[in-house]
Amino acid sequence: MIIKDESPERRLDWLKSQLQQAGHKATHQRLEVFRQVILTDEHPDAEAVYLGVRERIPTISRNTVYQTLQFLMDQGFIAPFGVHQASHRYDPNPAPHHHLLCLRCGKVSDYEASPLEIIPPPMGGANWGKVDSIHVELRGVCSDCLSERKREP
Ligand SMILES: [Zn+2]
Ligand SMILES: [Zn+2]
Repeated sequence: MIIKDESPERRLDWLKSQLQQAGHKATHQRLEVFRQVILTDEHPDAEAVYLGVRERIPTISRNTVYQTLQFLMDQGFIAPFGVHQASHRYDPNPAPHHHLLCLRCGKVSDYEASPLEIIPPPMGGANWGKVDSIHVELRGVCSDCLSERKREP
C-alpha cells in the first residue's frame, strides 16, 4: 500500500473505502481530520489539526478532533510522531520511514531509507527488551531555509 505520494483527494477516497471495508462510517469529520494531517508535511500536533479543521467545520469541538485522531491512529491510517505518544504529533505516513528535521523552520520531511531498517540492535539490546522498529531523525537546516539565509545581506 503506497499511498503517501498520491493526491489528497485520492488518499481521502482510499480512507473512505478502507473505513467502509472495516465497517466504520466515513464521516465528514473523520475525513476532514485526516485531510488536515496529510495536507502538509508538518507532522502536526493535535492542536494544529484542530485549528485547521475548525476553519472548515467551525462547530467541531477540540475533543472530537482529539478523539478522531486517536481513532485514525488506532486504525493505522496515521502514526504517532515523536519520541513517544505523549508528544501528540501525528504522521500522515503510517509506513516505516525516517525523518529530516529542519531546526530553523521546524519542517519535518519523510526520508525513505530501507537499509536503516535493518540496523542491528545495539549490544545489550536483548537485555533491554524487544526492538519493533527503528526511527532515525536527521537534524539540520532545510534547503528553503539555506537559500533564505543566502539572500540575507
Ligand atoms: Zn527550514
Ligand atoms: Zn513521517
